[in-house]
Amino acid sequence: MPEVTKYKANMTIPRTPDNEEPAAERACDFRPVDKGYTAEMAQLEASRCLRCKKPLCVEGCPVNIKIPDFITAIYEGDFGRGLDIIREDSMLPAICGRVCPQESQCEGKCVRGRKGEPVAIGQLERFLGDQPELASTPEMKPKNGKKVAVIGSGPSGITCAGELARNGFDVTVFEAFFTGGGVLVYGIPEFRLPKAVVKREIDGLEALGVKFEFNSVMGRLETAEELLGEEGFDAIYVATGAGLPKFLNVPGENLPNVFFANEYLTRVNLMKANEFPVFDTPTKHGKNVVVFGGGNVAMDAVRTAKRLGAERAIIAYRRTEAEMPARKAELHHAKAEGVEVMPLVAPLEFVAGDDGQRRPARPAPCPAP
Ligand SMILES: Cc1cc2nc3c(=O)[nH]c(=O)nc-3n(C[C@H](O)[C@H](O)[C@H](O)COP(=O)(O)OP(=O)(O)OC[C@H]3O[C@@H](n4cnc5c(N)ncnc54)[C@H](O)[C@@H]3O)c2cc1C
Ligand code: SF4
Repeated sequence: MPEVTKYKANMTIPRTPDNEEPAAERACDFRPVDKGYTAEMAQLEASRCLRCKKPLCVEGCPVNIKIPDFITAIYEGDFGRGLDIIREDSMLPAICGRVCPQESQCEGKCVRGRKGEPVAIGQLERFLGDQPELASTPEMKPKNGKKVAVIGSGPSGITCAGELARNGFDVTVFEAFFTGGGVLVYGIPEFRLPKAVVKREIDGLEALGVKFEFNSVMGRLETAEELLGEEGFDAIYVATGAGLPKFLNVPGENLPNVFFANEYLTRVNLMKANEFPVFDTPTKHGKNVVVFGGGNVAMDAVRTAKRLGAERAIIAYRRTEAEMPARKAELHHAKAEGVEVMPLVAPLEFVAGDDGQRRPARPAPCPAP
């Protein structure tokens, strides 16, 4: 264990690299790309933190997690304390450590990033989040007799449910799907965020007393008036997300074999289309797949297509590669796995062949912005 009493940040070592599976192997299946830090790696990386008096990383974190404090706990080998510190501000460290855009939040502000690489705050958060058994039982306020209905079980809904439960509210989460997690399960693929990690967080909420009602499309099953009236809820928190796709508005986008990312990813991630016919949901396994877009959703879709056997999996983006909104790590991973990037193109139309199916899209140079 590193020396605790005389702390001096280790300025000589580089950022501890991610613990990744080899790109050529991982691109063939849905195994997690990143295995996460070992305890040794985490403590080594923790030794890079300066423990700034005015920690800019905390300002960069949307929920102001006490980052230097939990990093210090890792350095000292007290992982349970580190996890408790995170949980004072965030219920979802295993998830946020994996998918938060740290490069534009906490790590983007880290002073070590000014003359080199920032501290790997996301990896350290994930390291602790993956050991929930080390956390103390959260402090629960006494029941206050108030009932709250949370509609939707994505990150917004489950965070709200957890906070309310800890503060003495009686919480029921109503979810349209048969399982909880929202985009975390139907959108983000297994290789980035394993379903078991999300389930663990949902189970943790159930242990706090949160009730989940799945297969419950609210508004159809029950109205707000019914919830607030005969069902006896005192308040409703609506966390239904933004599940509708943004259309390209080009001819032919409704042809067979043209999918919107949410549908494609839901079929594979949640309804196991990749295991058809063992599971009922079919999907297209294309030889050449073009994904239009440059964000995290596009990266997840193109990397999924690659794993389903596409020989060419292409990202076509209307702006330059540097302007892509996807996390840099996702773009880096995608390219390492063999994904091609085609910048400055947008589709004009999708054309049907004799069989009525889509023919290859005609990418065209993008008009100047
Ligand atoms: C493919 C993909 C990848 C992404 N990757 C990242 C990433 O790497 N990093 C990042 O920070 N963000 C990422 N995002 C964005 C992030 O996932 C969303 O910002 C986040 O999920 C929004 O959370 P939410 O709880 O508001 O909504 P959602 O996660 O959309 O959850 C809404 C839930 O409400 C349910 N619901 C809807 N209507 C009803 C109803 N009438 N009754 C009951 N339930 C209902 C839905 O079924 C769903 O479970 C990604 C999004 C997608 C689609
Ligand atoms: S800004 Fe960077 S070096 Fe400073 S406390 Fe935060 S993580 Fe540590």
